[in-house]
Amino acid sequence: MNDNRHLPAVDRVLQQLPALIDAHGRQLVTACVRAELAAAREGLRHGLPLPDETCLLTAIGRRAAAAGRANLRPVFNLTGTVLHTNLGRAQLAEEAIAAMADAARSPCALEYDLASGGRGDRDDLVSGLLAELVGGGSPDIAATIVNNNAAAVLLTLNALAQGKEAVVSRGELVEIGGAFRIPDVMRRAQVKLHEIGTTNRTHAKDFAEAINPKTALLMKIHTSNYAVTGFTAAVDEKVIAEIAHAAGLPFVVDLGSGTLCDFAAHGLPAEPTPQQALAAGADLVTFSGDKLLGGPQAGLIVGRKDLIAKIKKNPLKRALRVGKTTLAALEATLRLYRDPDRLRERLPTLRLLTRPVEDIAALGERLQPAVQAALGSLAAVSVAACNSQIGSGALPVERLPSVALVCRPTAKKPGKTLLAIETAFRGLPTPVIGHIRDDAYHLDLRCLEVADEARFLAQLAALKLA
Ligand SMILES: *Cc1c(COP(=O)(O)O)cnc(C)c1O
Repeated sequence: MNDNRHLPAVDRVLQQLPALIDAHGRQLVTACVRAELAAAREGLRHGLPLPDETCLLTAIGRRAAAAGRANLRPVFNLTGTVLHTNLGRAQLAEEAIAAMADAARSPCALEYDLASGGRGDRDDLVSGLLAELVGGGSPDIAATIVNNNAAAVLLTLNALAQGKEAVVSRGELVEIGGAFRIPDVMRRAQVKLHEIGTTNRTHAKDFAEAINPKTALLMKIHTSNYAVTGFTAAVDEKVIAEIAHAAGLPFVVDLGSGTLCDFAAHGLPAEPTPQQALAAGADLVTFSGDKLLGGPQAGLIVGRKDLIAKIKKNPLKRALRVGKTTLAALEATLRLYRDPDRLRERLPTLRLLTRPVEDIAALGERLQPAVQAALGSLAAVSVAACNSQIGSGALPVERLPSVALVCRPTAKKPGKTLLAIETAFRGLPTPVIGHIRDDAYHLDLRCLEVADEARFLAQLAALKLA
């Protein structure tokens, strides 16, 4: 018996799909036709009826659309975490996006000195800007850029302390997500971790007494994703710097999030800046490009010129360096900080963090009827106050008052409905990512900007609830 005679030939199916071939290319569509025919053949073997032609062509179209869709897709981040590591952290400023596109599109003077025609250094593209913004314009300040802050810490430790000891307070041995733990990074950098003090209290004499002939540097790590409260004591950066310098050792500060602007002046919780750390006597600071700075993924090492020069000679620097698009975005982002008056409006991270709660509430009121209509009788949708988090380990205990659409299932046992709602929002053309809490599905509207409101609303018609 051969049921296959009922199935059309691949070529005959392809003839009916000129538009699909135009959109996705012949090779991809051919593969989809083969896959659907194979599925139909398998169905026939199991006694299923032969799919009619319309069904077959629709299934091929769906398969081609799925295969042709990018894996890295834009989403609406309505999780309430502004700098969401799993959703790509900072959204870049338009100026940074334009600079990235230009650098990507054409040759650029990445390591080429346009003045002399000689070889240039890619770090010079941002080193002067960082000296200006972070180092108060000091000619003794330089910078080098690597893939992320984890790389910045690894490289700094390896370049300055390989085979020697780094002194760190026990209260600062942080884990930034599973793969980055200070003790592990020290080991990988071939540096011996010299822990001092206790979990809650470390004193100046702990630093002074730890110094021995094997000590290479003193280090402070910003406890960016947790807070030690209660009976605590940490040593002021100025004091650690004095102790380090008296022993002829460098003092390194890993800031993690590192914003260059005064958060308090924007009504946000105060966050230590690299400027402050350097002014307090730190010889080097390391921080991320895509946390509070609001730029591309990168690790910035800024500080004493001689130490930066030593770091740049380390072979790991070559392995960890960034490419032209990253540097383009970073330079453009840093340039925005030169104009503090317009920073809030141009830098999405700062704009989102400082968004007035009344704006978010008004947006909630405008969206509520449409979301309610999309969910029908499945859930009651209300506009409610909530708290956003900054995210990426920045300011872990601080919350920003915000407003959410809260979708509360009408069913007695809400579990299944909640999952169905969450899945449906995630299945939209631009997936919407919210979160389930207290038996309701929450959409924190802080990161839904008014410019995207129409696009958000338009796609609600496509919400498919199972
Ligand atoms: C986030 C963070 C890191 C890691 O930075 P990435 O840019 O994510 O690699 C390191 N140290 C501290 C203190 C941090 O907050």
